[in-house]
Amino acid sequence: MSEATRALAFGTYAACGLDRLGARRGHAHILSLHRVHEKPSPYWPPMHPAGLDWLLSRLLRLGKIVDIREIAARRVPSGERVFALSFDDGYADFVEYALPVLESHGVPSNLNVVVESMRSGEAIWNARLYDALARAGGDFYRAVAEFFPDDWSIEGLRTKAHIGYEISNGFRSHSRAERERAIRVLEDLCEYPGEPVRALRVDEVRALPVSVHVGAHGETHEPLSDVSMEEFRSDVEACRVFFETELNRPMETYAFPLGGYRREQVEHLLDTGVAHVLLVDEEPTIGGRSVLPRLTVGATRRGHYLAEATGLRRRLASAVQR
Ligand SMILES: [Zn+2]
Repeated sequence: MSEATRALAFGTYAACGLDRLGARRGHAHILSLHRVHEKPSPYWPPMHPAGLDWLLSRLLRLGKIVDIREIAARRVPSGERVFALSFDDGYADFVEYALPVLESHGVPSNLNVVVESMRSGEAIWNARLYDALARAGGDFYRAVAEFFPDDWSIEGLRTKAHIGYEISNGFRSHSRAERERAIRVLEDLCEYPGEPVRALRVDEVRALPVSVHVGAHGETHEPLSDVSMEEFRSDVEACRVFFETELNRPMETYAFPLGGYRREQVEHLLDTGVAHVLLVDEEPTIGGRSVLPRLTVGATRRGHYLAEATGLRRRLASAVQR
């Protein structure tokens, strides 16, 4: 689908109120969100605070926005449409840009934080990479290419978002130390110092209002879907100890970093007392259960946000497959 057709389709979705058909009654739609910022960033566009404000107004016309704990506690009544907001990675812009909008609508939220980022104040590596690409001057591509084999190239990729994804994906298979070195090289190339992306620190997380339910999102944010159970248990334990000793609260909620998981890992979380396990899985839920799927909302257009938030993308994809 061309960009213009997409824009028209999502514009029509919002303008004609098709979200009333898209959002299922008797279901909760848990939105998985990331950065909210007023400054655009081409390699991984954040949601603009005005876009979040617009989206919340639309969702509140369709139904209620509740705490994820409420969705886990009971089934969604058959006539209701319920939404919840779940933010991952613990960016500082959550407090600066998202929270004022959430508070102006009087809605609760869930924020899932990474232990290492809270300790250092440094955001997860992918976010720092996208941020450095956006701010780097000079020939950043040459600097990036140094870290890849000679035949590696970003030629032919249409948008900066695609380029950013390709670069980040390439770095996934590098060692953590090598990735760190690459990001430092790029950060040194930043011509516009601006304000780099950063993570909320421990004291800032402690100071969040009660409307924000804080969950864990891994000790390091490295993918856990392929690690041994021993490694997984130790990551979960590190999060639990951090919650109890540094954040002074139990770890009730756990969101898998990068969304990947195995069934035995979910069971381990439930067996060790985690009350809410957040997946991505791109589907709504009927509620009344501990394991909750979420819907990624990562678009840049308002109608598109709404389509993603009401689960339309998934339903269209499964209709095409059938
Ligand atoms: Zn994450």
